[in-house]
Amino acid sequence: MRILFTTIGCLILLSASQKIPQRKIIDVHFHAHLAGDYGQPPPANPRTGKIPKWRNDEEVIAMMLATLKDNNVVKAIAAGSLSTIRNFQMADPERIIPALDYPDSQNNPLPDTATFVRYFQEKRFSVFGELALQYEGKTLADAELEPYLAICERMGIPVALHTGMSFPNTTYTCCPKFRTHLGNPQLIEEVLVKHPKMKIQLMHLGFPYLQETKAIMNVYPQVYADIGAIDWLRPLPEFYSYLQSFIDGGFGKRIMYGSDQMAWEDAIPLSIKNIENAPFLTESQKDDIFYNNAATFYNIK
Ligand SMILES: [Zn+2]
Repeated sequence: MRILFTTIGCLILLSASQKIPQRKIIDVHFHAHLAGDYGQPPPANPRTGKIPKWRNDEEVIAMMLATLKDNNVVKAIAAGSLSTIRNFQMADPERIIPALDYPDSQNNPLPDTATFVRYFQEKRFSVFGELALQYEGKTLADAELEPYLAICERMGIPVALHTGMSFPNTTYTCCPKFRTHLGNPQLIEEVLVKHPKMKIQLMHLGFPYLQETKAIMNVYPQVYADIGAIDWLRPLPEFYSYLQSFIDGGFGKRIMYGSDQMAWEDAIPLSIKNIENAPFLTESQKDDIFYNNAATFYNIK
């Protein structure tokens, strides 16, 4: 019996120690949102079926930050409106890097360019994005964005652009101007030509525009990408074959982990698990995706 107890004790200890994430992680596609942003009550996670338990703004912030901490996510590029990212940043200033969403959940207009520069200098935001322009029927080449992109290039402000697609029925529900072809990463090419020093992150790795995303990343080595949402929302074999194609193509130093957790904090451990379990990734490739590539792109020491 004693031996049995000792064995059980060891097993418990072993499984407990296995739960402690060893790898340091940066989440470059995290959403800072408040309780009303996804409806009340919030919808169930479309992948896990779990309904978020938070009931108010304080609980959303507390649950999201606790999930980051529990999973060893040491930095999160947190996108939201100016007021929301401030709430998250004040709650955990070491972990949260504020990113200015456009459009944001409150449909705030972009600040004028002088105010935009001042907000950046005051560290009210450090990253410009998620730019969800596709939902508005626009691309990064839209004239409205040009003066802001020029500022981002001049001041070294990283730009994070939504690329790829969205949930079924997006065009029929929230966003009548949404079109799938506007998520094609090749549509940013003229902007890259005009702003060669601009730091840019293609969100969702351009999914499902495999060849077009590779073409852009191959010719423009300054372009990085994240795997937010596709790393937990898409069927796993499809996500794996898409990601593996980029790894095989030699892009492993420019692909960054992102959760794009939206309303669902359980997307964070789920997406981390999916990358940890990817059979084609070496340990050092996982380190690159989870931390090193983002540390380079975002200049995180
Ligand atoms: Zn997105």
